[in-house]
Amino acid sequence: MVSKAHRRAYDQIMSTPHPHQVEKKLAVQVYTEDRKKSAPGELTILEWDPQGRSKRAVKWAAMCFGAAVVSVPIPPIHWVLVPGFLIASPIVFFYLMNQKSVIQGGSATCPACNQPVALVRSKHEFPMSDLCDKCRTNLVIEPTSSASVG
Ligand SMILES: [Zn+2]
Repeated sequence: MVSKAHRRAYDQIMSTPHPHQVEKKLAVQVYTEDRKKSAPGELTILEWDPQGRSKRAVKWAAMCFGAAVVSVPIPPIHWVLVPGFLIASPIVFFYLMNQKSVIQGGSATCPACNQPVALVRSKHEFPMSDLCDKCRTNLVIEPTSSASVG
């Protein structure tokens, strides 16, 4: 039998897989494109501290480099893939070093058809746009401006 304390410790470990990565919840308001209707939603934001960012950047740049090496013995595509991955690797590195946070995704209610909408992973920029997959309405997503949320 698993004790409650044990279970809680396990949940804590599982919910923080990376010490340099922080998950934050952000309350948002979802509008129809004409802004006539709105509904509440919530986004999950992933943030990295400088150490977490560099680890992630090194990891992905190394994967690009590794992909270039793996492509070497595969003619004729190695003429494209090897330089491609070699060029991509520093680009990926600098891109990830500059990326402080990302919207991991979220959930909301569609203001047009009142069905639940899953919001996709995207850049941490507002206003964000998405599409309701139930009624095909274009949605505009903005953080809830009220200071009471937090
Ligand atoms: Zn809808």
